[in-house]
Amino acid sequence: EKKIRRIDSAKDKSRAREKDSERLKVEENVFDVPTLKILYTLSNKGVIKAMGGAISTGKEANVFYAEGPDKELAIKIYRIASSTFKAMDAYIMKDPRFTNIRNNKRDIIFAWTRKELQNLKRAKNAGVRVPEPILAEKNILIMEFMGEKEVSYPLLKNTHLENEEAKSIFDTIVEYMRLLYKKANLVHADLSEYNILIDPNNLTPIFIDMGQSVTLEHPNAREFLYRDVQNILRFFSRYGIKDKPEELFKKIQVE
Ligand code: ADP
Ligand code: MN
Repeated sequence: EKKIRRIDSAKDKSRAREKDSERLKVEENVFDVPTLKILYTLSNKGVIKAMGGAISTGKEANVFYAEGPDKELAIKIYRIASSTFKAMDAYIMKDPRFTNIRNNKRDIIFAWTRKELQNLKRAKNAGVRVPEPILAEKNILIMEFMGEKEVSYPLLKNTHLENEEAKSIFDTIVEYMRLLYKKANLVHADLSEYNILIDPNNLTPIFIDMGQSVTLEHPNAREFLYRDVQNILRFFSRYGIKDKPEELFKKIQVE
């Protein structure tokens, strides 16, 4: 009972933090009864010691800070009441790993959550720096928190870099894209300065948000890779990086 109160108070805390009324509605949506039950069970099992505040409210999911038994956690909760889940169809229905899921909203969201966990595992095994995936349960994904003192590492988008630092980060990003492609058999498919965190201690990139990542068998995999390449080059052009998208696209696949 004490634990569920802690989860409730986390809900209150995140409410108090958020004044924007549109967002308030979204936060009410996220903690539906089935979601609270899973959090309660995970809390009883000791996977979660305490829920913290909201880190992010996105289009389909909210991310919360939490304390685990031995490390800090990020808990991504896909909202069942999410209205944009239709967009998930194109990514998941053609993925050979997910051909048996039923075509309803809840099942698509649960499959999506499992897919994000699996994608993070494959990326990690390929040597790409990502948050360590811990578990997926229905619409809840638990992973390692990438940040310090309850504050997430900055998004690439929000960093101010010297040209040399940018070049080194760019090179690592390209190497990660190559490792994803060659070793994990994956394309991120939403790669941009919005889905890369920067560890300020060593300026290494961390790929996040891999729910939509697809295997190379997906009919649009190369198209998604090309788009990722374009996004990355668009961002880094401000730092004087002028690689040609066609060449980078080839380099990732060939080397
Ligand atoms: P969305 O689908 O809403 O874009 P993301 O997975 O990109 O979800 O996460 C949203 C935000 O939450 C990120 O921009 C980042 O600031 C934060 N975040 C996500 N995962 C983590 C993590 N493992 N550690 C710390 N912060 C995270
Ligand atoms: Mn994102």
